[in-house]
Amino acid sequence: MSDHQKGIHHITILSGDAQVNYDFYVKKLGLRMVLKSVNQDDPGTYHLFYANGAGKPGSSITFFPWPMAHQGIPGTGEAVAVSFAVPSGSIDYWKKRLQDEGIEFGGPEKRFGLDVITFRDPDKMMLELVFDPAADAVEAWKDATVPAGHGIRGFWGTTIRIVESEETIALLEDVFGFRKTEEEGNLTLLKSGSEIGHSVIIEKAERHEHGKNGRGIIHHVAFRAKDEDEELEMRRKVVEHGLQPTNVIDRHVFKSVYFRSPGGVLFEIATDGPGYRSVVEREEDMGKNLFLPEWLEPRREYIESILPGIRD
Ligand code: ZN
Repeated sequence: MSDHQKGIHHITILSGDAQVNYDFYVKKLGLRMVLKSVNQDDPGTYHLFYANGAGKPGSSITFFPWPMAHQGIPGTGEAVAVSFAVPSGSIDYWKKRLQDEGIEFGGPEKRFGLDVITFRDPDKMMLELVFDPAADAVEAWKDATVPAGHGIRGFWGTTIRIVESEETIALLEDVFGFRKTEEEGNLTLLKSGSEIGHSVIIEKAERHEHGKNGRGIIHHVAFRAKDEDEELEMRRKVVEHGLQPTNVIDRHVFKSVYFRSPGGVLFEIATDGPGYRSVVEREEDMGKNLFLPEWLEPRREYIESILPGIRD
């Protein structure tokens, strides 16, 4: 992929009701569901992937919806906010849209020189829109509920709240190819060269605070490897940092390696390919039918019978 300069691949979050989640991210924020699958560790529940139209790495926010999940409370040692990149001239559009949709928001306020609007999803996860001139030239989904001129381009980045900030910054620089650029109070900005998903903010915490796992909590942040060779090279570096990565796991739309950072953040390395488009025949079929890995195909009928329907 021509724009591969590493960066964020996807971000995965625990949520409540799947329909509420779909309505919010597709109908209100204008993302596209690019893959509807199941949680491979709990195949009776969904794994939903939303992204910009093409489902490019750096744009996909994914959810494990558990309708009965308790409300989570964020703590230290985890990502606590997801930021989307939107065009610099779209502030008025988004203020009005959030207002019309009944979504309370804060800002715009300046952070690292850019206007940021903050709000929460139905499970209270912190979301941000970052109005960034760098997003102006990136394409959004043409058939979205938001006009393409204002639509979400992909991730701007994420914020990680952590006591072990130095170790985390070292990992982001050595393994994932980010570069420390600016500091503002207890925030450190790291950038990669990718078109979207290029920023990580490290929010230095003074002491450890236990959160509570549950809906609205970010499960992990995945970073890009252009192919399996680069993934293995990155995995070797993780080992050099004294950490314990998993082996490569085939997720069918990408290949994954997981590990916990010092301080406990769950990170993933994910390959750019084969991508969400690879599991459907036609581009327009992306996200339409339930995708199951081969080993779950024999159980399709049962799995479909227990999953709640998602209405468009
Ligand atoms: Zn993942």
